[in-house]
Amino acid sequence: MTQQINLLRTVKFTYIFLLISVLLSCQKEPPELKIYPDVSIELCPFFYSFEREAAKRGVIVDLRNAAIKGRLTKINGSAVGICIKHDMKEILIDREFWERSSQLIKELIVFHELGHCYLHKSHNNQTATNGTCESIMRSGLGGCIDFYNENTRDDLLDEFFSN
Ligand SMILES: [Zn+2]
Repeated sequence: MTQQINLLRTVKFTYIFLLISVLLSCQKEPPELKIYPDVSIELCPFFYSFEREAAKRGVIVDLRNAAIKGRLTKINGSAVGICIKHDMKEILIDREFWERSSQLIKELIVFHELGHCYLHKSHNNQTATNGTCESIMRSGLGGCIDFYNENTRDDLLDEFFSN
C-alpha cells in the first residue's frame, strides 16, 4: 500500500516536473516572434533569420541597433524590393509580389535588400556555367537565373555573408 502511494507520488511529481518544464520552455521568445521597431510584422521573421544566418557564419548583426525600417507597399515599375538609404535606412517590398511568393523567395528578397542596406553590397551578376546566379546580390535584370532553393541556400548564404 505504502509502495503504491509512493509510486503515485513519483508519478505525480514527474508529471508536475514535466508540466513546469513545458511552461518554462514556452516562455522563451519563439524565433519567429522577434519584433523590430518600424518593421512590418511580416518582415520580422526574415530580419531575425538574417541575424541568425549571419551569426552561424561568425558575422554579428544587430538589426534593431542598426534601426533599419521595413515595410510592404506598392512599388511601381519592375523592382520588387528597394533599399532606401538617406538619414534612415528603409527596405520596401512590393506587397503583391510578397503575397504570391514562397518563404524562400521572401527570404531571398529581404536578404538581398538587407545586403544593400546593412552589408552595403552592390550587385553581383556572376554566373555559373549552368547559367545560375552565384550570388543573391544579382541585379535581377537578366544575365543569370535565380537558383535559391533548399539545396543551394547554404552555399549562397556562405557567399553572401563572406565578403
Ligand atoms: Zn538590388
